[in-house]
Amino acid sequence: MGLLSLGTPLHWDQAKHYAEHVRYHGISQFLNTWDRLKDRQGDELLWGDEVEYMVIQLDTDNKDAVLSLCQTEVLAKLQALTDDMNTKTGSSAVPPVFHPEYGRYMLESTPGAPYSGSVHDLLLVESNMRLRRHLARSNLKPDQIPITLTSFPRMGVPGKFTEPYYDPTEAVSSHSLFLPEQITNPHARFPTLTANIRRRRKSKVAINLPIFIDNRTPRPFIDPTTPWHRDVFPEDAEARNGAALIDHIYMDAMGFGMGCCCLQLTFQCCNIDQSRRMYDALIPIGPIMLALTAASPLWRGYIADVDCRWNVIAGSVDDRTEEERGLKPLKENRMQIPKSRYDSVDLYISETWMNRPEYNDNPLPIDQSLYDRMRKHGIDDLLSKHIAHMFIRDPIVIFSELIDQDDTKSTDHFENIQSTNWQTLRFKPPPPNSPIGWRVEFRSMEVQMTDFENAAFAVFIVLLSRAIMSMNINLYIPISKVDENMRRAQQRDAVNQAKFYFRREVFTPASSRATSGATTPNGVTTFSYASSTISGASPNGNGTTNGLHHLAYPNGCPRRKQRVMENCFPPPPPPDDGLAGKDVSEEYAEYTMNEIISGRGDAFPGLIGLVEAYLDTLDLNDSEQRRITSYLNLIRRRANGSLKTAAAWTRDFVRSHPSYNLIRSERGVRRAPDLLPEDYTGSNEDPSS
Ligand code: GLU
Ligand code: MG
Repeated sequence: MGLLSLGTPLHWDQAKHYAEHVRYHGISQFLNTWDRLKDRQGDELLWGDEVEYMVIQLDTDNKDAVLSLCQTEVLAKLQALTDDMNTKTGSSAVPPVFHPEYGRYMLESTPGAPYSGSVHDLLLVESNMRLRRHLARSNLKPDQIPITLTSFPRMGVPGKFTEPYYDPTEAVSSHSLFLPEQITNPHARFPTLTANIRRRRKSKVAINLPIFIDNRTPRPFIDPTTPWHRDVFPEDAEARNGAALIDHIYMDAMGFGMGCCCLQLTFQCCNIDQSRRMYDALIPIGPIMLALTAASPLWRGYIADVDCRWNVIAGSVDDRTEEERGLKPLKENRMQIPKSRYDSVDLYISETWMNRPEYNDNPLPIDQSLYDRMRKHGIDDLLSKHIAHMFIRDPIVIFSELIDQDDTKSTDHFENIQSTNWQTLRFKPPPPNSPIGWRVEFRSMEVQMTDFENAAFAVFIVLLSRAIMSMNINLYIPISKVDENMRRAQQRDAVNQAKFYFRREVFTPASSRATSGATTPNGVTTFSYASSTISGASPNGNGTTNGLHHLAYPNGCPRRKQRVMENCFPPPPPPDDGLAGKDVSEEYAEYTMNEIISGRGDAFPGLIGLVEAYLDTLDLNDSEQRRITSYLNLIRRRANGSLKTAAAWTRDFVRSHPSYNLIRSERGVRRAPDLLPEDYTGSNEDPSS
């Protein structure tokens, strides 16, 4: 989850005096990157996924499963193993990489080298994920397993939920009533983050998830497992003084949030402009994918009335003071701040004509002097605002040895702020001394129980990003509506129950919308397209198309089907009749998940329809076609409710099996026809079996 610098971390009382220093030099570092790399062009598609795991310790005698706090030893073993693989295989097959994460029971893995834009690599994703799980498992003890659950159902219950057991009354960083100090990765960054967030906020973090109410829920629900009268730390009184809400599951530590697991993807873009366009395009996709991947209904031994981790993590790192949260008039702090450091994106940043100023309708506190500095340096309004908005935050962890840096060589201060703004999307400048270009990270998805599902979502997003960029798809809606979608996405069974704001007409005059493709004997493909324009679409969402045309795809017709996904796309040309467009409020409507994913008649082919149109331009062999079709089917069936999300499946499992335990769910996944499609072969394909 970010930069792991080494050194002596400062207590908040000292660190706060360096906040201005870090911000000032962070911007200097960004300006240096900008000067060096703003004109960098032509980077190919390279991309990767990050999967986070929990290591579970099984106690077969007692039929129990707890979190194994074995991260340090396991990472050391995995490091030795992958070093060894490196020496043996040379550079031909790069072994995966394992990283530490917040929880001392967590592992994170990435492929050793990024995937390329080659179609062939799409099929490597799942097998690479399987290899990573296999490597992790084979370096654990026989009674330990790595699992990809988003939230650990029994974390923070009374009694034992970790191996080894630790007493929660000595949680010196978090002051939690529930989680021991040892739940946290011992690297100085993590306990310091935990403690300094609490110190800056001047209270413990307070997360309250509504409890799921059925006929077995006592009402009012006043949690008997909360030690209401414990007073080891002064903040212990917060629970009884109102921090813990009735009818809610109360959580009071960073570990409840940052101890959750997710699936993230990072893409290298052609240049800075295209990374800004892709960042924007994926913003409205964030909540859609959160709802589709919902996987965390169980918290601290209870069933919550929400399905996702998002707001738990937001609350778990919320370092804002009461003044900043608008609960008290401003006296010591400089501004009110509407959101936590972990939250949804507040600003579209592309300069494309599609990005109308009206879409940026969220309050946007910025650091004015840093904004002015970037503007003076020649950076445009939107990018300056984006950075100046992130830079309203204080650096939480400062290492005394790293205070003075060479701003032409280091980006440590910039990264200090950037990597503690955990948003649905991250716009990532090229790192120093590296061949890597401008990137975008997609961060909203919850991790799935199987690698089949994780690969399906990863491959879907990479294909969707290509479809959007190559077909000039416009997905903009007001960013406040994206926030409303984030709220809805977390509701119980949002996939089936909620409607989401979505753009009515996603095609632009420059869009080419494939409706059929035909391959001629020489392998050249021609397409028929129905093209439609903003003005040609009917506002009721039934949409009109302006007839079929043979159009270039994407810029030259006919063209050969490709084995490599492109990464550089010409900027979408503005409409001939100017940019006036209609009133923004007429540009979007509320749709079901099924309509967003699978489309609605002629008006919109659905995100899968866009992906399929794009796939038509690729030269896929049969096995690639089959695998990708099975990925798209999983997503289609999640969206139409014929397969459950992990959240719904887990909730139902717990409700119908009072003797639920994790061993059964881990093995049971293979035989869960309501969760996984019939053709799922599961871990039969694992290298271990
Ligand atoms: N585990 C966090 C999540 O579930 C993300 C941490 C990271 O940025 O790597 O969103
Ligand atoms: Mg991570």
